[in-house]
Amino acid sequence: TLTNELVELDKKHFIHPTSSIKEQQANGPAIIFKEGKGVYLTDVNGQTYIEGMASLWNVNIGYGRKELAQAAQEQMEKLAFSSCFATFSNEPAIRLAEKIAQITPGDLNAVFFTSGGSESNDTAYKLVRHYWKLKGLPNKSKIISRQKAYHGVAVGATSATGIEGFQNMTSSLAPDFLHVDPFSTEAVRAIIEQEGADQIAAFIAEPIQGAGGVNIPSNEYFQEIRQICDEHNILLIADEVITGFGRTGKMFACEHWNVVPDVMLIAKGVTSGYIPLGGVVIREKLHKEFIELSEGTLLHGFTYSGHPTSCAVGLRNIQIIEEENLVENSRKMGEELHKQLKSLQSELPVIGEVRSLGLIGALEIVKNQKTNERFPTKVSALVVSEARKRGLILRTVTFNEADTIVFAPPLIINKQEIEKVFEILRASIIEVTKNL
Ligand code: PLP
Repeated sequence: TLTNELVELDKKHFIHPTSSIKEQQANGPAIIFKEGKGVYLTDVNGQTYIEGMASLWNVNIGYGRKELAQAAQEQMEKLAFSSCFATFSNEPAIRLAEKIAQITPGDLNAVFFTSGGSESNDTAYKLVRHYWKLKGLPNKSKIISRQKAYHGVAVGATSATGIEGFQNMTSSLAPDFLHVDPFSTEAVRAIIEQEGADQIAAFIAEPIQGAGGVNIPSNEYFQEIRQICDEHNILLIADEVITGFGRTGKMFACEHWNVVPDVMLIAKGVTSGYIPLGGVVIREKLHKEFIELSEGTLLHGFTYSGHPTSCAVGLRNIQIIEEENLVENSRKMGEELHKQLKSLQSELPVIGEVRSLGLIGALEIVKNQKTNERFPTKVSALVVSEARKRGLILRTVTFNEADTIVFAPPLIINKQEIEKVFEILRASIIEVTKNL
């Protein structure tokens, strides 16, 4: 059959990202997806799934949107690609840069385009260090990031990531990255004291940590971080790769706390995953200083920085988010998601903490709700696999003590679809835990 043929070819020729190479060899791919429409996916065997994760937290407008296919086709027929190096430009890149300047908070006003989140991260580290170098402070080069952070897999991004497994893949990392407790502003003050503000270029954080387990900060955290950065002349980088473009019920998550970062990183939701694209957005003041201080060529740029087809798709995607009020839907359906999490928590004794903001959320599996004691095995992985059999796609976070199920459905999801997600999830948890 076609499926068997594809499985064999996959095993032989396709090295999957973030995968167990051994398991892939033994079992082949678990699902070969074929089509998507709205919040539903279909595989090559015709089984359908409801999507609880918007693929990798990114298919914000849902699957099968013809408008995006049309935007890509029209642009490809006109001018599929042209370089933006040096003095060349193209209309979709210009229009998208303007649009991003409009929708990002405060005076975030100029964009450097990349092809994804990892490139956005490495670009940002180089830009902030370059900035301090231009200002005559070449030693202001360390970057503070947080434990449990995920910033991607380029060498810089891996070094900023605060999840051991990623860092341990090789025996060397990029220098000048420091990691602090993700919830404590005191820890940030302490490390600045210890290292010296004159050595620190920037502080980077995801407004809500995604891959680290959907960790939501206190209401005061980012305002205090903003203050600390200002006090010490340290740039604040917000990695909004997951949280941007409506995910949390605001266009960008830092709006929840009225904080404007100096640098904002975007990717994923900027095109809802229809085509690769990312960006580094900087504040007007920073942009002006770059213009004033820079000499010669900024020797940083990707072939696909400002890719016209990617930018045309991004532009259409943002129009859809606006036209269909998907940020508001994310906020409203987020309340529904939160209600469902709470109700499941009160019903099932194996559910510990639940947390969510807009359409990003998490629940902890525990052996004991009061003491937070965990099961000896990662039950979340069993639940997610059971849910998959029943037609629901979710994802786990299982590093260190975590036994967590995370949620990030497409922003177009409605109440009935959220109910369906939780109906399947509930049945899966009951099934998996009945014999534990
Ligand atoms: N930053 C954050 C917060 C992410 O969640 C991710 C990916 O999940 C990245 C950066 C890396 O993005 P990419 O996988 O597009 O390189």
